[in-house]
Amino acid sequence: MDPVEDTLRRLREAFNSGRTRPAEFRAAQLKSLGHFLQDNKQLLQDALAQDGGLRVGEGRWATQLDAAFIRKEPLGLVLIIAPWNYPLNLMLVPLVGALSAGNCVVLKPSEISKSTEKVLAEVLPRYLDPSCFAVVLGGPQETGQLLEHKFDYIFFTGSPRVGKIVMAAAAKHLTPVTLELGGKNPCYVDDDCDPQIVANRVAFFRYFNTGQTCVAPDYVLCSPEMQERLLPALQSAITRFFGDDPQSSPNLGRIISQKQFQRLQGLLGCGRVAVGGQSDESDRYIAPTVLVDVRETEPVMQEEIFGPILPIVNVRGLDEAVDFINRREKPLALYAFSNSNQVVTQVLARTSSGAFCGNDGFMHMTLTSLPFGGVGASGMGRYHGKFSFDTFSHHRACLLRCAGMEKVNDLRYPPYTDMKVQLLSWSLSQSCSLL
Ligand code: NAD
Repeated sequence: MDPVEDTLRRLREAFNSGRTRPAEFRAAQLKSLGHFLQDNKQLLQDALAQDGGLRVGEGRWATQLDAAFIRKEPLGLVLIIAPWNYPLNLMLVPLVGALSAGNCVVLKPSEISKSTEKVLAEVLPRYLDPSCFAVVLGGPQETGQLLEHKFDYIFFTGSPRVGKIVMAAAAKHLTPVTLELGGKNPCYVDDDCDPQIVANRVAFFRYFNTGQTCVAPDYVLCSPEMQERLLPALQSAITRFFGDDPQSSPNLGRIISQKQFQRLQGLLGCGRVAVGGQSDESDRYIAPTVLVDVRETEPVMQEEIFGPILPIVNVRGLDEAVDFINRREKPLALYAFSNSNQVVTQVLARTSSGAFCGNDGFMHMTLTSLPFGGVGASGMGRYHGKFSFDTFSHHRACLLRCAGMEKVNDLRYPPYTDMKVQLLSWSLSQSCSLL
């Protein structure tokens, strides 16, 4: 095996084992790093000198009399690209952050949610200073052309596939990005649960906006016993929300496009339909559906569903559920249901995701005190509330020093006499600030 590959595998295994997480481990490693510096002081000084680098005393200087602060500055010209599923919210919430931080903004709404795109293009500009804000319209081709230009920041919400295109285009200009992407959000249901309460909550969040929500629970992981109790409860929740004929319910929307409809209709063929399963192409209607007996390799467990379909995958318990989750890309959101706090916190502690919610659906994203964003394949960066302002600001590190009082600086200038070195060592032992 390639030695680098071997090293990387070893380190990843160590990380996955949870070894680096306990506070004691981290404190011990930091202490050890301190010993490395202390025990090998002369060795390191000699090595630095041989490399033509720092001499004694050049490494650290006093800053105690200076004023240090962070200045949050606008980044400049930023581009915000939005998807179609919440076309207004996902355009305006980032815009609030961008304009409150003082940037100029190009807005690129989704070409698929045509009516909102039209309002954003025709009406929004009347309310904003046209010299600072512009709406640019178009689909993949026009967005590709737009991305050839240099921006100071790009905030993208959409699919992981297009996220990679955006990031590659941004890299050409070294433009930083926020990528708010999608994925498959697991929902673990423990045996110690009230099935009806879980079913109400899972069904509400799964079928909200006809399942076209990036943070919707994408699939359920539970034991076969819990599945038997959940199925009638899910059926009951669906009937309660949308009536006996969900197609005629004013509370259930439609699939956004024919293309998406066909993709979802294909997914109905995975596993076995336990609830729902009906569809009507002329109306782009897909009934709230629950699938069982699905295999991990089937398309419904491979791609983000983004529609009113909920597969249930059987696991034998918490350990198997955690293994299943950790074998896959890190999701945008992860849900765990249990009457036992211990089970919920175990799922939290042993997995990773953009966000986590115990005993409910995507309520976490309604709180502006919490950052919203993905991790790994579900994205990078965060926003909402103050996090939006910070995302669209450069955190400029500033230090202001008095123009006089030159005596204070004497110590840092060569030549380094023994006296200076001793004084420096003493002053360093009084403070642990590293420059
Ligand atoms: P998408 O990636 O197809 O499109 C998003 C935007 O990118 C649109 O404005 C579109 O015009 C543009 N685009 C499409 N193809 C492009 C290309 N080849 N080059 C450049 N630009 C291109 O996503 P979508 O179908 O509009 O939205 C659904 C996806 O968005 C799902 O994956 C969902 O999970 C994700 N999403 C994520 C969040 C979040 O906050 N993390 C929110 C909503 C939706």
